[in-house]
Formats: sequence, C-alpha cells, structure tokens
Amino acid sequence: MKSQPALRRFHAAVQNALGLVFPNVCQLCGEQRAESSEGYVCAACWHRPDGVRFIREPFCDRCGLPYEGEITGVFQCGNCAELDLAFSHARSAVHATRVVMDVIHRYKYSHALFLEPFLTDLLLRAAVPELKGGSWDGLVPVPLHPTRLREREFNQAERLAAALATATGIPLETGWIERTRFTGTQTALTRSQRGENMRGAFKPKEKPNLKGLRLIVIDDVLTTGATTSACAAVLRRAGAEEVIVWTVARGT
Ligand SMILES: [Zn+2]
Ligand SMILES: [Zn+2]
Repeated sequence: MKSQPALRRFHAAVQNALGLVFPNVCQLCGEQRAESSEGYVCAACWHRPDGVRFIREPFCDRCGLPYEGEITGVFQCGNCAELDLAFSHARSAVHATRVVMDVIHRYKYSHALFLEPFLTDLLLRAAVPELKGGSWDGLVPVPLHPTRLREREFNQAERLAAALATATGIPLETGWIERTRFTGTQTALTRSQRGENMRGAFKPKEKPNLKGLRLIVIDDVLTTGATTSACAAVLRRAGAEEVIVWTVARGT
C-alpha cells in the first residue's frame, strides 16, 4: 500500500500530466486562467450574463421550474398540470444557461471528463445543504441504455450521483433500475410526446424490494421531467415511499 506522501506525489504527477494536455486555461473562453479543480472554467465565464445562475425562489413547488417575477406562497406550473409526474418534487442547481449547457454537451458528447469538477461543484453547492440531515436511503442515477453507455463510455448521471454520495453519505444505488428501450434524443418532441416516448423505457432490475425507502433520482438536466418521472415511477412501483429528483441544470 502506498504511504500518504507517495499518494500525494502520485496525485501531483497526475495533475502535472493533465496540465500538459490541458494547459491551465479556461476551456470556454481560452483566455483566462482556470484550474483543474474548477473544471477549467474561469471566474469571468462563471459570472457572464449567460454564465452560472443558481436557481432561487420563486419556483414551482413540484417540478422546480423557476418563475420570473414576484409570487408568494406555494404554486404549481403548467408543466406539472400537463404531465402526471411520479416524483414528489424536483430541484435543480442552476438555470440551463449557455455556459452550463456548453459544458454539459462537451462533457457528455466529447468525453470531456476534465470539465466534471465544474458540474459536480454546482450540484453539490445546491443539493448538499438541502439533503444533509434528511433521512434519504439512496441516490439513483438515471441509467443509460447499454448501447448509449458503450458509445459514451460513462454515465454522466452516475458520476454526478457518485460525487453527491461522497459529499452526503447517502448510498449510490445503481442496481435497481435499467433502461431497456433506446429512446433516442427527445429534443424534437413535444411535452406530451416526451412522456409517451419514455413509457416503458425503464424496468426494475432483479425485482428490488424498495418498500418504505426514500430515494433521490439524479440526472444532469431536467426539462419536462418525463425521463426522471419514468424512473421515479419504476421505483415507486417497487415500493419506494418517496422519490424526489435532483439535477445540475434546469431547462425550459
Ligand atoms: Zn473563461
Ligand atoms: Zn411545475
């Protein structure tokens, strides 16, 4: 087994090796300095008008859709009225702004794992204070279809959930649900088509007994909630008492 200093030297060597591949420059603007611990996104890009915007109240009590303007008290939006959502509520860390979506796309589709600390940082900042101290039994990442997993080589939802598991002590659970239908991209579909498209996309794995458990479904982006709701429905049918959702970004 390696001693601690040896381990630190090993980490430093890895950092240096990464530094050769990615000089410490922001991967969005290519101008400002940015470190690996920041996911190579500089402070200037973070604070741009289309940069990082954390979601603050008011938002829909059910699906977390931010509401621009003044509102007092609890309210639910039109998105929730149209869809029969299986989770009790969904929350997201930040708005799906250009900077955030740019990072998510490169992370997922260009295998840009060096951008991951930027995304986990956003999720942890918002979700950890909300989840810590709650009696949650498991973090369930939205599974990828095996074909998609082969082409992408990693499940972004699982990696984000793993970071949240480390920060909160809530167990990461990847053995309960699987994606059995290849659904393709949903971007061209309407809200109700998305709901229809997700029907039967997920199945329980080896009949899990989730009786009485309180679970959190994790994904990178939530738009209508059709995908996360389909996962929540499977978990509820397997006995889960409550299922909520957390994602990094919230689109509209
Ligand atoms: Zn930048
Ligand atoms: Zn809503």
